Amino acid sequence: MPGATYPLEPQVVPPVDTPYRRIQTKIPVPESLSTLEDLRRYEPLSMTGQPLVVWDRAEGCQVHDKWGNMWLDWSSGVLVTNAGHGRKELIAAICEQARHGLLHNYCFPSEHRAKLAKRLVELAPEGIEKCFLLTTGSEATECAVKLARTHGLTVGGREKIGLVSFQHAFHGRTLGAQMIGGIPSLKEWIVNLDPAMVQVAFPDGFRCPDTSFDFFLKQLDQQGVAPSQTAGVITETYQGGGASFAPPEYIQALRAWCDEHDIVLIMDEVQAAFGRTGTHFWGFQHYGILPDLICCGKGISSSLPLSCVLGKTDLMDQYPAGSMTSTHTGNPVCCAAALASLDLIVNEKLVDNATRMGALLHRLLGELKDRHPEVCASLQGKGLVAGLHLVKPGGVEPDPDLAFQVVKRSVEKGLLFFSPVGFQGATVKISPPLTINEAQVREGAETLEEALGEALGQT
Ligand code: PMP
Repeated sequence: MPGATYPLEPQVVPPVDTPYRRIQTKIPVPESLSTLEDLRRYEPLSMTGQPLVVWDRAEGCQVHDKWGNMWLDWSSGVLVTNAGHGRKELIAAICEQARHGLLHNYCFPSEHRAKLAKRLVELAPEGIEKCFLLTTGSEATECAVKLARTHGLTVGGREKIGLVSFQHAFHGRTLGAQMIGGIPSLKEWIVNLDPAMVQVAFPDGFRCPDTSFDFFLKQLDQQGVAPSQTAGVITETYQGGGASFAPPEYIQALRAWCDEHDIVLIMDEVQAAFGRTGTHFWGFQHYGILPDLICCGKGISSSLPLSCVLGKTDLMDQYPAGSMTSTHTGNPVCCAAALASLDLIVNEKLVDNATRMGALLHRLLGELKDRHPEVCASLQGKGLVAGLHLVKPGGVEPDPDLAFQVVKRSVEKGLLFFSPVGFQGATVKISPPLTINEAQVREGAETLEEALGEALGQT
């Protein structure tokens, strides 16, 4: 079930030994129980949702524990390790910066911050001119909302403060990020939601069959929101929960509408950037548009915490010196990691690998889906992100129990996913490092099908 806590009782599972996966103990490993129990005791319950693998080290597409088990990682640790886990180039860059003797410098000028801001702007399409470095994805989306709303106030006065976002969207867990999020259960605690923040259906073509832009306009109309009251629109490039994209024509029409009404278009690329979706470096390039603001995080460094907002100068320069800052902005060690990771993505042509391996992944998953049409309702995503949506046999009702079982059984076979959570709890999310090779894609797909078969009681 979504939000379920895995039981701490070690279970005998069949041994596995391939070049990419090794399981040679009970799962969870009996010797790992004291660590797992400490986590249960000293961390909040909310932290107990992931499979009971105690990560010891990770390299490339593999995660190891201390007891000889090895998993083929199809999570990238929640879409972070685009350039692969534990790359020696990253470790070297991090160690070199630490040994050099600067671990922190706030907003005081520093070379690594200058280098990283310049590099990110240069990697972005023309028209993106500035980069504000932050630490988490939530900070980036909060900052983009602030910039959009500030712009709205300037061009349209106190009426133009509205933020339009999408149902099912996820933009982070801080107050503002949850208010623009589209998952009602996550914001029950807020109670007095901002009435200027509204959501419309995301045009994914399956939960929302009407993918016309007219439907967007109609929904705004129904909620009494006029363009003159709208400061910004924010969307994930693909909806993270299920890996669904909007039709390009829809986003192009949205871009034109934003231009017409001086509305800031924000693409939340926290999951989608840095080659994840294949074909392009940035996910929004699949839509053939340029956003006004881009939020990044996760795969930016393939490791240490770093995020940013990228945008046009007029939006980015709205706040005077000293008034839009952050304590850990562009930490020197994190910057060194991000620069090294960007080099790996570019030099090793990982976007091309994501395109090729993504095509294979989607073909194999499509075949798997066709072999199990009664429970695989939909396969979404592009490149090296995919969402397999599972339903109760023969129907349309999502099946979170089945998704949970598929992930649990996969993990017991040495294929690592993060657990299905929240409203998308019936989706198995697939997001391996962009360095994955053909044999690893094939082996992962076969393992996933074995796990699905077992979960369905077929073997
Ligand atoms: N936006 C998107 C699309 C995300 O997927 C996430 C994290 N899952 C966030 C924002 C928030 O990022 P963080 O957890 O680093 O605050």
